Amino acid sequence: MPAPTLLWFRQDLRLADNPALEAAAAGGGAVIPVFLHAPHEEQPWAPGAAARWWQHESLAALARDLERRGSRLILRAVAPGQSSLATLLALAAESGAAAVHWNRRYEPAVLERDRHVKRGLRERGLVAESHNAALLAEPWEVRNQSGRPFQVFTPFWRHVLRELAPPRPLPAPAQLAAPPRWPDSLPLESLGLLPRVRWYDGMAQEWQPGEAGAARQLERFLAEAWSSYRDGRDLPALRGTSRLSPHLHHGEISPRQIWHALAGAAEARGESAASWRQSQFVAELGWREFAHHLLFHFPHTTDAPLRAEFARFPWREDAGLLEAWQRGRTGVPLVDAGMRELWQTGWMHNRVRMVVASFLVKNLLQPWQAGARWFWDTLVDADLASNTLGWQWSAGCGADAAPYFRIFNPMSQAERFDPDGAYVARWVPERGSSRYPPPIVDLKASRAAALAAYQTLRAGPLNP
Ligand code: FAD
Repeated sequence: MPAPTLLWFRQDLRLADNPALEAAAAGGGAVIPVFLHAPHEEQPWAPGAAARWWQHESLAALARDLERRGSRLILRAVAPGQSSLATLLALAAESGAAAVHWNRRYEPAVLERDRHVKRGLRERGLVAESHNAALLAEPWEVRNQSGRPFQVFTPFWRHVLRELAPPRPLPAPAQLAAPPRWPDSLPLESLGLLPRVRWYDGMAQEWQPGEAGAARQLERFLAEAWSSYRDGRDLPALRGTSRLSPHLHHGEISPRQIWHALAGAAEARGESAASWRQSQFVAELGWREFAHHLLFHFPHTTDAPLRAEFARFPWREDAGLLEAWQRGRTGVPLVDAGMRELWQTGWMHNRVRMVVASFLVKNLLQPWQAGARWFWDTLVDADLASNTLGWQWSAGCGADAAPYFRIFNPMSQAERFDPDGAYVARWVPERGSSRYPPPIVDLKASRAAALAAYQTLRAGPLNP
Protein backbone atom coordinates (compact mmCIF):
# COMPACT_ATOMS: atom_id res chain seq x y z
CA MET A 1 0.00 0.00 0.00
CA PRO A 2 1.50 3.40 -0.97
CA ALA A 3 2.15 5.90 1.85
CA PRO A 4 -0.66 8.32 2.75
CA THR A 5 -0.75 11.83 1.25
CA LEU A 6 -1.62 15.04 3.08
CA LEU A 7 -4.19 17.23 1.32
CA TRP A 8 -3.77 20.76 2.70
CA PHE A 9 -7.08 22.68 2.36
CA ARG A 10 -6.90 26.48 2.32
CA GLN A 11 -9.14 28.66 0.12
CA ASP A 12 -10.40 25.71 -1.90
CA LEU A 13 -13.09 24.38 0.42
CA ARG A 14 -14.69 21.96 -2.03
CA LEU A 15 -14.41 18.39 -3.25
CA ALA A 16 -15.37 18.83 -6.92
CA ASP A 17 -12.87 20.30 -9.37
CA ASN A 18 -10.14 20.25 -6.77
CA PRO A 19 -6.83 19.46 -8.51
CA ALA A 20 -4.88 19.02 -5.24
CA LEU A 21 -7.43 16.44 -4.09
CA GLU A 22 -7.23 14.68 -7.46
CA ALA A 23 -3.42 14.58 -7.25
CA ALA A 24 -3.46 13.39 -3.63
CA ALA A 25 -5.88 10.56 -4.44
CA ALA A 26 -3.96 9.60 -7.59
CA GLY A 27 -1.08 8.38 -5.43
CA GLY A 28 -3.28 5.39 -4.57
CA GLY A 29 -2.68 5.62 -0.80
CA ALA A 30 -4.86 7.09 1.92
CA VAL A 31 -5.66 10.81 1.75
CA ILE A 32 -5.48 12.85 4.95
CA PRO A 33 -7.31 16.18 4.51
CA VAL A 34 -6.01 18.89 6.85
CA PHE A 35 -6.77 22.53 7.53
CA LEU A 36 -4.27 24.66 9.43
CA HIS A 37 -5.41 27.83 11.19
CA ALA A 38 -2.38 30.15 11.03
CA PRO A 39 -3.58 33.76 10.92
CA HIS A 40 -0.17 35.15 11.92
CA GLU A 41 1.25 33.84 8.65
CA GLU A 42 -1.25 35.94 6.69
CA GLN A 43 -0.56 39.26 8.40
CA PRO A 44 -1.20 42.10 7.81
CA TRP A 45 -4.19 40.69 5.90
CA ALA A 46 -5.36 37.74 8.03
CA PRO A 47 -9.08 37.08 7.34
CA GLY A 48 -11.46 39.65 8.82
CA ALA A 49 -14.38 38.91 11.14
CA ALA A 50 -17.11 38.32 8.52
CA ALA A 51 -14.86 36.12 6.38
CA ARG A 52 -13.90 34.11 9.48
CA TRP A 53 -17.58 33.42 10.19
CA TRP A 54 -17.94 32.16 6.62
CA GLN A 55 -14.79 30.07 6.91
CA HIS A 56 -16.12 28.43 10.09
CA GLU A 57 -19.38 27.45 8.39
CA SER A 58 -17.62 26.36 5.22
CA LEU A 59 -15.19 24.14 7.13
CA ALA A 60 -18.13 22.53 8.92
CA ALA A 61 -19.78 21.81 5.57
CA LEU A 62 -16.53 20.44 4.12
CA ALA A 63 -16.00 18.16 7.11
CA ARG A 64 -19.53 16.75 6.65
CA ASP A 65 -18.93 16.22 2.92
CA LEU A 66 -15.67 14.40 3.67
CA GLU A 67 -17.32 12.20 6.29
CA ARG A 68 -19.92 11.15 3.73
CA ARG A 69 -17.01 9.81 1.66
CA GLY A 70 -15.44 7.84 4.48
CA SER A 71 -12.92 10.57 5.24
CA ARG A 72 -12.34 13.35 7.80
CA LEU A 73 -11.05 16.89 8.08
CA ILE A 74 -8.12 17.17 10.48
CA LEU A 75 -7.91 20.62 12.08
CA ARG A 76 -4.78 22.06 13.64
CA ALA A 77 -4.06 25.51 15.10
CA VAL A 78 -0.62 26.94 14.39
CA ALA A 79 0.29 29.16 17.33
CA PRO A 80 2.27 32.38 16.84
CA GLY A 81 5.92 31.33 16.95
CA GLN A 82 5.10 28.04 15.26
CA SER A 83 4.75 27.50 11.52
CA SER A 84 2.57 25.69 9.02
CA LEU A 85 5.73 23.98 7.76
CA ALA A 86 6.47 22.52 11.20
CA THR A 87 2.83 21.45 11.59
CA LEU A 88 2.79 19.72 8.20
CA LEU A 89 6.08 17.97 9.00
CA ALA A 90 4.66 16.81 12.32
CA LEU A 91 1.50 15.54 10.60
CA ALA A 92 3.61 13.71 8.01
CA ALA A 93 5.71 12.12 10.75
CA GLU A 94 2.62 11.04 12.72
CA SER A 95 0.86 9.55 9.71
CA GLY A 96 3.78 8.30 7.61
CA ALA A 97 2.71 10.61 4.76
CA ALA A 98 5.26 11.04 1.98
CA ALA A 99 3.60 13.84 0.00
CA VAL A 100 1.65 17.07 0.51
CA HIS A 101 -0.63 18.64 -2.12
CA TRP A 102 -2.37 22.02 -2.01
CA ASN A 103 -4.01 24.59 -4.27
CA ARG A 104 -2.33 27.93 -4.80
CA ARG A 105 -3.16 31.32 -3.29
CA TYR A 106 -1.80 34.65 -4.51
CA GLU A 107 -1.66 37.02 -1.51
CA PRO A 108 1.90 38.30 -0.94
CA ALA A 109 2.31 36.97 2.63
CA VAL A 110 0.76 33.62 1.71
CA LEU A 111 2.92 33.25 -1.40
CA GLU A 112 6.02 33.79 0.68
CA ARG A 113 4.86 31.34 3.34
CA ASP A 114 4.00 28.74 0.69
CA ARG A 115 7.42 29.02 -0.98
CA HIS A 116 8.98 28.44 2.43
CA VAL A 117 6.72 25.43 3.05
CA LYS A 118 7.45 23.89 -0.35
CA ARG A 119 11.19 24.29 0.09
CA GLY A 120 11.12 22.95 3.65
CA LEU A 121 9.07 19.87 2.78
CA ARG A 122 11.25 19.01 -0.21
CA GLU A 123 14.44 19.46 1.80
CA ARG A 124 13.13 16.78 4.13
CA GLY A 125 12.46 14.42 1.26
CA LEU A 126 8.69 14.86 0.95
CA VAL A 127 6.87 15.43 -2.32
CA ALA A 128 5.33 18.94 -2.19
CA GLU A 129 3.16 20.12 -5.08
CA SER A 130 0.84 23.09 -5.56
CA HIS A 131 -1.97 23.29 -8.12
CA ASN A 132 -4.25 25.87 -9.72
CA ALA A 133 -7.81 25.66 -8.44
CA ALA A 134 -8.77 29.33 -8.28
CA LEU A 135 -8.03 31.00 -11.60
CA LEU A 136 -8.69 30.58 -15.30
CA ALA A 137 -5.21 31.92 -16.08
CA GLU A 138 -2.15 31.96 -13.84
CA PRO A 139 -0.88 35.55 -13.36
CA TRP A 140 2.65 34.72 -14.51
CA GLU A 141 1.42 33.13 -17.74
CA VAL A 142 -0.20 36.34 -19.00
CA ARG A 143 2.09 39.05 -20.44
CA ASN A 144 1.61 41.89 -22.90
CA GLN A 145 3.56 42.21 -26.15
CA SER A 146 6.53 43.73 -24.40
CA GLY A 147 6.59 40.84 -21.93
CA ARG A 148 5.24 42.92 -19.06
CA PRO A 149 2.14 42.47 -16.90
CA PHE A 150 -1.04 44.14 -18.15
CA GLN A 151 -2.34 47.27 -16.43
CA VAL A 152 -5.46 47.82 -18.54
CA PHE A 153 -8.40 45.44 -18.32
CA THR A 154 -9.67 45.30 -21.93
CA PRO A 155 -6.42 44.16 -23.61
CA PHE A 156 -5.76 41.84 -20.64
CA TRP A 157 -9.09 40.08 -21.00
CA ARG A 158 -8.99 40.03 -24.81
CA HIS A 159 -5.59 38.35 -24.55
CA VAL A 160 -6.75 35.80 -21.95
CA LEU A 161 -10.00 35.01 -23.79
CA ARG A 162 -8.15 34.36 -27.03
CA GLU A 163 -6.12 31.58 -25.47
CA LEU A 164 -8.63 30.29 -22.98
CA ALA A 165 -9.89 26.71 -23.05
CA PRO A 166 -10.45 25.80 -19.39
CA PRO A 167 -10.28 22.05 -18.80
CA ARG A 168 -13.52 20.29 -17.85
CA PRO A 169 -14.07 20.40 -14.11
CA LEU A 170 -13.07 17.29 -12.17
CA PRO A 171 -15.89 15.36 -10.48
CA ALA A 172 -15.93 15.02 -6.69
CA PRO A 173 -14.62 11.59 -5.64
CA ALA A 174 -17.27 9.13 -4.45
CA GLN A 175 -14.98 7.77 -1.74
CA LEU A 176 -11.62 8.71 -0.24
CA ALA A 177 -9.23 6.10 1.15
CA ALA A 178 -8.78 6.51 4.93
CA PRO A 179 -5.49 5.92 6.76
CA PRO A 180 -5.26 3.03 9.27
CA ARG A 181 -5.11 5.63 12.06
CA TRP A 182 -6.28 9.25 11.88
CA PRO A 183 -4.04 11.98 13.31
CA ASP A 184 -5.59 13.96 16.19
CA SER A 185 -7.84 16.85 15.29
CA LEU A 186 -9.08 19.88 17.21
CA PRO A 187 -12.80 20.60 17.39
CA LEU A 188 -13.77 23.31 14.88
CA GLU A 189 -15.05 25.62 17.64
CA SER A 190 -11.60 25.73 19.24
CA LEU A 191 -10.08 27.52 16.21
CA GLY A 192 -11.83 30.69 17.39
CA LEU A 193 -13.17 31.68 13.97
CA LEU A 194 -16.53 32.70 15.41
CA PRO A 195 -16.79 35.95 17.38
CA ARG A 196 -17.67 35.83 21.08
CA VAL A 197 -20.66 38.08 20.55
CA ARG A 198 -23.22 36.51 18.26
CA TRP A 199 -23.64 39.28 15.67
CA TYR A 200 -23.77 37.05 12.60
CA ASP A 201 -27.44 36.04 12.52
CA GLY A 202 -28.12 38.44 9.62
CA MET A 203 -25.39 36.76 7.60
CA ALA A 204 -26.56 33.27 8.54
CA GLN A 205 -30.06 34.08 7.24
CA GLU A 206 -28.69 35.38 3.97
CA TRP A 207 -26.12 32.76 3.01
CA GLN A 208 -25.42 29.05 2.83
CA PRO A 209 -21.63 28.68 3.03
CA GLY A 210 -20.18 25.48 1.56
CA GLU A 211 -20.02 23.65 -1.73
CA ALA A 212 -23.73 22.78 -1.85
CA GLY A 213 -24.67 26.42 -1.19
CA ALA A 214 -22.36 27.55 -3.99
CA ALA A 215 -23.91 25.09 -6.46
CA ARG A 216 -27.40 26.26 -5.49
CA GLN A 217 -26.45 29.89 -5.95
CA LEU A 218 -25.09 29.17 -9.43
CA GLU A 219 -28.24 27.23 -10.34
CA ARG A 220 -30.44 30.09 -9.14
CA PHE A 221 -28.44 32.61 -11.10
CA LEU A 222 -28.60 30.61 -14.33
CA ALA A 223 -32.34 30.04 -13.97
CA GLU A 224 -33.40 33.49 -12.78
CA ALA A 225 -30.89 36.22 -13.51
CA TRP A 226 -28.37 35.31 -16.16
CA SER A 227 -30.49 36.19 -19.20
CA SER A 228 -31.25 39.66 -17.81
CA TYR A 229 -27.80 40.21 -16.23
CA ARG A 230 -26.79 43.04 -18.56
CA ASP A 231 -29.56 45.32 -17.29
CA GLY A 232 -30.32 43.72 -13.94
CA ARG A 233 -26.78 43.75 -12.61
CA ASP A 234 -26.87 47.47 -11.82
CA LEU A 235 -30.10 47.49 -9.81
CA PRO A 236 -29.35 46.80 -6.15
CA ALA A 237 -33.01 46.21 -5.23
CA LEU A 238 -33.05 43.10 -7.44
CA ARG A 239 -31.23 39.80 -7.19
CA GLY A 240 -29.77 40.56 -10.58
CA THR A 241 -26.22 39.29 -9.99
CA SER A 242 -24.86 35.87 -9.15
CA ARG A 243 -23.88 36.53 -5.50
CA LEU A 244 -21.14 33.98 -6.05
CA SER A 245 -18.32 36.21 -4.74
CA PRO A 246 -18.04 34.70 -1.22
CA HIS A 247 -18.27 31.18 -2.65
CA LEU A 248 -15.54 31.98 -5.16
CA HIS A 249 -13.36 33.62 -2.53
CA HIS A 250 -13.49 30.63 -0.20
CA GLY A 251 -13.07 28.26 -3.12
CA GLU A 252 -16.41 26.46 -2.77
CA ILE A 253 -16.82 26.75 -6.51
CA SER A 254 -14.21 27.26 -9.21
CA PRO A 255 -14.29 29.66 -12.16
CA ARG A 256 -13.82 26.59 -14.39
CA GLN A 257 -17.06 25.10 -13.02
CA ILE A 258 -18.88 28.38 -13.66
CA TRP A 259 -17.38 28.61 -17.15
CA HIS A 260 -18.56 25.13 -18.12
CA ALA A 261 -21.99 25.64 -16.53
CA LEU A 262 -22.39 28.78 -18.65
CA ALA A 263 -21.22 26.89 -21.74
CA GLY A 264 -23.82 24.17 -21.09
CA ALA A 265 -26.64 26.62 -20.39
CA ALA A 266 -25.75 28.69 -23.47
CA GLU A 267 -25.70 25.61 -25.67
CA ALA A 268 -29.09 24.52 -24.32
CA ARG A 269 -30.61 27.81 -25.40
CA GLY A 270 -28.86 27.83 -28.76
CA GLU A 271 -26.43 30.64 -28.01
CA SER A 272 -23.07 30.58 -29.79
CA ALA A 273 -19.82 30.23 -27.83
CA ALA A 274 -18.60 33.49 -29.39
CA SER A 275 -21.61 35.27 -27.92
CA TRP A 276 -21.58 34.07 -24.31
CA ARG A 277 -17.79 34.28 -24.02
CA GLN A 278 -18.06 38.01 -24.85
CA SER A 279 -20.90 38.55 -22.36
CA GLN A 280 -20.84 41.02 -19.49
CA PHE A 281 -21.01 38.29 -16.85
CA VAL A 282 -17.95 36.52 -18.25
CA ALA A 283 -16.15 39.88 -18.28
CA GLU A 284 -16.87 40.17 -14.54
CA LEU A 285 -15.11 36.85 -14.03
CA GLY A 286 -12.37 38.48 -16.08
CA TRP A 287 -12.15 41.38 -13.60
CA ARG A 288 -11.55 38.82 -10.88
CA GLU A 289 -8.71 37.35 -12.95
CA PHE A 290 -7.34 40.85 -13.61
CA ALA A 291 -7.42 41.61 -9.87
CA HIS A 292 -5.28 38.52 -9.19
CA HIS A 293 -2.95 39.42 -12.06
CA LEU A 294 -2.39 42.87 -10.51
CA LEU A 295 -2.00 41.55 -6.97
CA PHE A 296 0.62 39.06 -8.10
CA HIS A 297 2.65 41.53 -10.18
CA PHE A 298 2.18 44.60 -7.96
CA PRO A 299 1.94 43.16 -4.43
CA HIS A 300 2.60 46.51 -2.72
CA THR A 301 -0.77 47.81 -3.96
CA THR A 302 -2.63 46.26 -1.01
CA ASP A 303 -1.44 49.26 1.01
CA ALA A 304 0.10 51.77 -1.39
CA PRO A 305 -1.31 53.36 -4.55
CA LEU A 306 -0.16 51.87 -7.85
CA ARG A 307 0.15 55.40 -9.23
CA ALA A 308 2.90 56.66 -6.97
CA GLU A 309 1.92 60.33 -7.10
CA PHE A 310 -1.20 59.48 -5.09
CA ALA A 311 1.01 58.82 -2.07
CA ARG A 312 1.06 62.64 -1.71
CA PHE A 313 -2.72 63.03 -1.84
CA PRO A 314 -3.89 65.52 0.85
CA TRP A 315 -6.37 63.26 2.66
CA ARG A 316 -8.16 64.82 5.63
CA GLU A 317 -8.29 61.96 8.12
CA ASP A 318 -11.28 62.36 10.41
CA ALA A 319 -12.38 59.56 12.74
CA GLY A 320 -15.89 61.03 13.09
CA LEU A 321 -16.55 61.11 9.34
CA LEU A 322 -15.14 57.60 8.93
CA GLU A 323 -17.37 56.28 11.69
CA ALA A 324 -20.50 57.92 10.26
CA TRP A 325 -19.72 56.18 6.97
CA GLN A 326 -19.03 52.82 8.63
CA ARG A 327 -22.30 52.94 10.60
CA GLY A 328 -24.47 54.09 7.70
CA ARG A 329 -25.20 57.45 9.36
CA THR A 330 -24.00 59.91 6.71
CA GLY A 331 -27.46 61.26 5.89
CA VAL A 332 -26.93 60.29 2.23
CA PRO A 333 -29.53 57.56 1.69
CA LEU A 334 -27.89 55.35 -0.95
CA VAL A 335 -24.57 55.42 0.93
CA ASP A 336 -26.23 54.56 4.24
CA ALA A 337 -28.31 51.80 2.61
CA GLY A 338 -25.16 50.18 1.23
CA MET A 339 -23.22 50.42 4.48
CA ARG A 340 -26.11 48.88 6.39
CA GLU A 341 -26.57 46.10 3.86
CA LEU A 342 -22.88 45.36 4.37
CA TRP A 343 -23.15 45.35 8.17
CA GLN A 344 -26.25 43.14 8.20
CA THR A 345 -25.44 40.65 5.47
CA GLY A 346 -21.65 40.81 4.95
CA TRP A 347 -22.14 41.74 1.29
CA MET A 348 -22.94 44.81 -0.76
CA HIS A 349 -24.10 45.20 -4.33
CA ASN A 350 -21.29 46.21 -6.73
CA ARG A 351 -23.00 49.40 -7.92
CA VAL A 352 -23.39 50.52 -4.30
CA ARG A 353 -19.80 49.50 -3.44
CA MET A 354 -18.66 51.95 -6.13
CA VAL A 355 -20.93 54.69 -4.76
CA VAL A 356 -19.94 54.31 -1.07
CA ALA A 357 -16.24 54.09 -1.99
CA SER A 358 -16.40 57.23 -4.15
CA PHE A 359 -18.25 59.04 -1.35
CA LEU A 360 -15.62 58.09 1.24
CA VAL A 361 -12.53 58.98 -0.78
CA LYS A 362 -13.91 61.96 -2.69
CA ASN A 363 -16.71 63.65 -0.76
CA LEU A 364 -15.24 62.85 2.66
CA LEU A 365 -11.55 62.88 1.58
CA GLN A 366 -10.77 59.83 3.71
CA PRO A 367 -7.89 57.60 2.57
CA TRP A 368 -9.00 54.63 0.47
CA GLN A 369 -6.96 52.36 2.74
CA ALA A 370 -9.40 53.11 5.61
CA GLY A 371 -12.31 52.02 3.44
CA ALA A 372 -10.46 48.92 2.27
CA ARG A 373 -9.80 47.93 5.90
CA TRP A 374 -13.47 48.31 6.86
CA PHE A 375 -14.56 46.22 3.89
CA TRP A 376 -11.89 43.69 4.81
CA ASP A 377 -13.40 43.17 8.22
CA THR A 378 -17.08 43.25 7.22
CA LEU A 379 -17.35 41.52 3.82
CA VAL A 380 -17.92 37.77 3.66
CA ASP A 381 -16.25 37.92 0.23
CA ALA A 382 -13.30 40.06 1.45
CA ASP A 383 -10.64 39.19 -1.08
CA LEU A 384 -7.24 40.86 -1.15
CA ALA A 385 -7.07 40.93 -4.95
CA SER A 386 -10.60 42.20 -5.67
CA ASN A 387 -10.79 44.54 -2.68
CA THR A 388 -7.49 46.18 -3.54
CA LEU A 389 -8.53 46.59 -7.16
CA GLY A 390 -11.97 47.95 -6.15
CA TRP A 391 -10.55 50.57 -3.80
CA GLN A 392 -7.72 51.67 -6.03
CA TRP A 393 -10.18 51.87 -8.92
CA SER A 394 -12.56 53.99 -6.85
CA ALA A 395 -9.79 56.28 -5.60
CA GLY A 396 -8.44 56.72 -9.12
CA CYS A 397 -4.96 55.60 -8.12
CA GLY A 398 -4.86 52.05 -9.51
CA ALA A 399 -4.55 50.25 -12.81
CA ASP A 400 -7.32 51.10 -15.30
CA ALA A 401 -9.05 53.12 -12.59
CA ALA A 402 -11.93 55.57 -12.70
CA PRO A 403 -10.23 58.96 -13.10
CA TYR A 404 -10.17 60.84 -9.81
CA PHE A 405 -12.18 63.72 -11.26
CA ARG A 406 -15.11 61.40 -12.08
CA ILE A 407 -17.05 61.72 -8.84
CA PHE A 408 -20.26 59.74 -8.43
CA ASN A 409 -23.19 61.82 -7.26
CA PRO A 410 -24.96 59.47 -4.83
CA MET A 411 -28.31 61.24 -5.35
CA SER A 412 -28.32 60.86 -9.14
CA GLN A 413 -26.95 57.31 -8.79
CA ALA A 414 -29.97 56.52 -6.61
CA GLU A 415 -32.37 58.07 -9.13
CA ARG A 416 -30.84 56.01 -11.91
CA PHE A 417 -30.30 52.66 -10.24
CA ASP A 418 -32.90 52.65 -7.45
CA PRO A 419 -35.61 54.64 -9.24
CA ASP A 420 -38.52 53.62 -7.01
CA GLY A 421 -36.37 53.80 -3.86
CA ALA A 422 -37.00 50.14 -2.94
CA TYR A 423 -33.37 49.44 -2.03
CA VAL A 424 -33.00 52.53 0.15
CA ALA A 425 -36.39 51.87 1.80
CA ARG A 426 -35.29 48.33 2.75
CA TRP A 427 -32.14 49.49 4.57
CA VAL A 428 -33.00 53.04 5.66
CA PRO A 429 -36.65 52.81 6.68
CA GLU A 430 -36.43 55.99 8.78
CA ARG A 431 -35.50 58.11 5.77
CA GLY A 432 -37.68 61.21 5.65
CA SER A 433 -38.40 61.12 9.39
CA SER A 434 -36.82 63.26 12.12
CA ARG A 435 -34.73 60.21 13.14
CA TYR A 436 -32.71 60.38 9.93
CA PRO A 437 -29.71 62.76 10.09
CA PRO A 438 -29.08 65.53 7.55
CA PRO A 439 -26.12 64.93 5.16
CA ILE A 440 -22.74 65.21 6.91
CA VAL A 441 -21.32 67.01 3.88
CA ASP A 442 -22.66 69.26 1.19
CA LEU A 443 -22.31 67.18 -1.98
CA LYS A 444 -21.55 70.13 -4.22
CA ALA A 445 -19.02 71.80 -1.93
CA SER A 446 -17.27 68.53 -1.09
CA ARG A 447 -17.05 67.68 -4.78
CA ALA A 448 -15.33 71.00 -5.41
CA ALA A 449 -12.96 70.39 -2.47
CA ALA A 450 -12.06 66.96 -3.87
CA LEU A 451 -11.28 68.42 -7.26
CA ALA A 452 -9.12 71.12 -5.64
CA ALA A 453 -7.23 68.46 -3.64
CA TYR A 454 -6.69 66.53 -6.86
CA GLN A 455 -5.32 69.65 -8.55
CA THR A 456 -2.60 69.96 -5.88
CA LEU A 457 -1.51 66.46 -6.85
CA ARG A 458 -1.37 67.24 -10.54
CA ALA A 459 0.68 70.35 -9.83
CA GLY A 460 3.25 68.32 -7.85
CA PRO A 461 6.73 67.44 -9.05
CA LEU A 462 6.06 63.75 -9.79
CA ASN A 463 3.36 64.39 -12.34
CA PRO A 464 3.87 67.80 -13.91
P1 FAD B 1 -21.47 39.19 -10.23
O1 FAD B 1 -21.87 40.46 -10.87
O2 FAD B 1 -22.42 38.08 -10.31
O3 FAD B 1 -20.06 38.79 -10.86
C1 FAD B 1 -19.60 37.44 -10.89
C2 FAD B 1 -18.25 37.34 -10.23
O4 FAD B 1 -17.30 38.14 -10.91
C3 FAD B 1 -18.23 37.84 -8.80
O5 FAD B 1 -18.67 36.86 -7.90
C4 FAD B 1 -16.77 38.20 -8.60
O6 FAD B 1 -16.00 37.08 -8.27
C5 FAD B 1 -16.37 38.68 -9.98
N1 FAD B 1 -16.44 40.14 -10.04
C6 FAD B 1 -17.51 40.90 -10.35
N2 FAD B 1 -17.17 42.21 -10.34
C7 FAD B 1 -15.87 42.27 -9.99
C8 FAD B 1 -14.96 43.34 -9.79
N3 FAD B 1 -15.30 44.61 -9.99
N4 FAD B 1 -13.69 43.03 -9.41
C9 FAD B 1 -13.30 41.76 -9.24
N5 FAD B 1 -14.14 40.71 -9.40
C10 FAD B 1 -15.40 40.96 -9.78
N6 FAD B 1 -15.23 41.55 -4.84
C11 FAD B 1 -14.82 40.53 -4.05
O7 FAD B 1 -15.03 39.37 -4.42
N7 FAD B 1 -14.20 40.75 -2.86
C12 FAD B 1 -13.95 42.02 -2.41
O8 FAD B 1 -13.35 42.19 -1.33
C13 FAD B 1 -14.39 43.12 -3.20
N8 FAD B 1 -14.22 44.40 -2.78
C14 FAD B 1 -14.64 45.44 -3.57
C15 FAD B 1 -14.44 46.77 -3.13
C16 FAD B 1 -14.88 47.84 -3.90
C17 FAD B 1 -14.65 49.26 -3.43
C18 FAD B 1 -15.52 47.60 -5.14
C19 FAD B 1 -16.01 48.75 -5.99
C20 FAD B 1 -15.72 46.31 -5.59
C21 FAD B 1 -15.29 45.21 -4.82
N9 FAD B 1 -15.47 43.87 -5.25
C22 FAD B 1 -15.04 42.83 -4.45
C23 FAD B 1 -15.99 43.57 -6.61
C24 FAD B 1 -17.51 43.36 -6.74
O9 FAD B 1 -18.20 44.39 -6.09
C25 FAD B 1 -17.97 42.01 -6.19
O10 FAD B 1 -17.17 40.97 -6.70
C26 FAD B 1 -19.43 41.74 -6.61
O11 FAD B 1 -20.26 42.75 -6.11
C27 FAD B 1 -19.86 40.40 -6.09
O12 FAD B 1 -21.21 40.18 -6.36
P2 FAD B 1 -21.66 39.01 -7.33
O13 FAD B 1 -20.98 37.75 -6.95
O14 FAD B 1 -23.14 39.00 -7.35
O15 FAD B 1 -21.06 39.53 -8.72
